[in-house]
Amino acid sequence: MPELPEVETVRRQLEPLMVGRRLASVSIRDSRLTRPLDPHAVEAALTGCTVGSVNRRGKYLVFDLDGVNWLAHLRMTGAFLTTSTGTFDDSRHLRAVVQLDDGAGVGYRDVRRFGTWAVLTDQELDYIFTTHLGPEPLSDAFDQAWLSVRFARSGARVKAALLDQTTAAGVGNIYADEALWQAGVHPARAAGSLDDSEIVALVAAVRGALTKGIERQGATLRDYRAPDGASGAMQDEFAVYGREGEPCNRCSGLVTKIRVAGRGTWFCPSCQPTSVRS
Ligand SMILES: [Zn+2]
Repeated sequence: MPELPEVETVRRQLEPLMVGRRLASVSIRDSRLTRPLDPHAVEAALTGCTVGSVNRRGKYLVFDLDGVNWLAHLRMTGAFLTTSTGTFDDSRHLRAVVQLDDGAGVGYRDVRRFGTWAVLTDQELDYIFTTHLGPEPLSDAFDQAWLSVRFARSGARVKAALLDQTTAAGVGNIYADEALWQAGVHPARAAGSLDDSEIVALVAAVRGALTKGIERQGATLRDYRAPDGASGAMQDEFAVYGREGEPCNRCSGLVTKIRVAGRGTWFCPSCQPTSVRS
């Protein structure tokens, strides 16, 4: 599932192609994409609009179309792809096609079909973001003070607390595991058991893991591709994610896989002890 670095990579590729361009036509081929909105109503709302900016909030892409907000969430397997000619070599799983006024095309492909598109007013967008999303983890608002408040007295496992989008918008399974390894925190510990120095380390580790992911243009595991078709490179540099039985990069102990918060979770038992290091 694309997380913040993957969605940010998509945003950075779409931005120069789309900003200032008019959406000459919008064709939604799968009504599930816009549920509960009528796909024809979404086509009509988007067609003719000019793209003012391409933004990201958490794992959401937001296209600002001069008062109309086009919100897209890739969920499991959604992907944008671009073509300068307006036609796509491979149209399998294409759920929507947008033609731009310069002849380029932007397609939306989704094998599992969990991705969503919506058209929202500014007020609707604000409501969704303020009720569902915490601070951007690469912004100043995500700091020790914030995480201390969020984790205080929490019995939730620290990984579950990190995956909660109201803690930090955009962190998912991969980058949570990588950050907890970097910070030396066991993923199944109670969030409220972290001391100040561990929280400081975790803030830095979350930022570091996401920044590295963006620099590597995301991680390609199964379906994720950038809009230009290229794979990310972050998967080659995972410290623990998906590396069960392989040596830890720090201590050469073996990476172990467990389940935490219902998710496959990789960690190093020696670098990430079950209690605060004394
Ligand atoms: Zn280790």
